[in-house]
Amino acid sequence: MKIYRESAEGSATKIIAAARKSADIGNFETGEEILERRKGVSKLTSGSKNLDNLLGGGFETQSITEFFGEFGSGKTQIMHQAAVNATMPAETGGFDCDVLIIDTENTFRPERIIQMSKAKGLDPEVVLKRIHVARAYNSHHQILLAERASELAKEFPIRLLIVDSLTSHFRSEYMGRGALSERQQLLNRHMHELLKFSTIYNAVIAVTNQVSARPDVFFGDPTAPIGGNIVGHTATFRIYLRKSKGGKRIARLIDSPYLPEGETVIQVSEDGITDGV
Ligand code: ADP
Ligand code: MG
Repeated sequence: MKIYRESAEGSATKIIAAARKSADIGNFETGEEILERRKGVSKLTSGSKNLDNLLGGGFETQSITEFFGEFGSGKTQIMHQAAVNATMPAETGGFDCDVLIIDTENTFRPERIIQMSKAKGLDPEVVLKRIHVARAYNSHHQILLAERASELAKEFPIRLLIVDSLTSHFRSEYMGRGALSERQQLLNRHMHELLKFSTIYNAVIAVTNQVSARPDVFFGDPTAPIGGNIVGHTATFRIYLRKSKGGKRIARLIDSPYLPEGETVIQVSEDGITDGV
């Protein structure tokens, strides 16, 4: 393979083109090609050094990072912060890119983006212009929006795609054991569409997931994330969030292919996601 010889920008463009080509045709890649593509992986800061360290440097491109936890555990706050951070230049841990948010619960708040931008010394208007939000009204619509993400990515440099929440529509539309296999099949297709986007555009995919409040239906564990094995096996990084005192949250890394399991503390405040004091 000679096309990846140069470094930095030129090389990244070629990696993207090659990934796009192979994804379109469904081609095989050699181990060498995958290794070269993996060299293009970059990391987006979460806003918290603690959380970045837990993730091995931040949110990784070419993979899916999933946050799960109960209501109010900070999942949506982390997504807002990631969106703001992605617009920052590389020197400060960003991608200088645009962001796509698929919002399924109507919890995107531009006011929060403004607060977090100001805390970072960024111009909130500039940041807001780079965040593209699509409301998904049901699971079918959500799948469709993810499939169309690449159209937006041709117009804007999207390198962060957020789905908040990944599972809420699926959960409410496919109730009970009878609907489980259809739900899992659709979720599987959706997750692989997202993963494909992450590879083609060298993008971070960040998704949120609830914990099951119905242990009778969902795998018996009241703190188990929705979506079971399908979501678990496709997400590369899974972080379990739980509340602690004074705006603090405990983040636990679960099931990473190459990072040790571990826990850390982050702070949710008006300024956004930080290490706190
Ligand atoms: P979920 O995990 O359900 O998505 P959220 O990310 O929406 O939860 O977290 C909501 C919590 O975030 C609130 O309970 C509050 O603790 C914190 N929060 C939200 N907005 C602010 C703010 N402006 N200042 C401080 N804390 C905030
Ligand atoms: Mg939320």
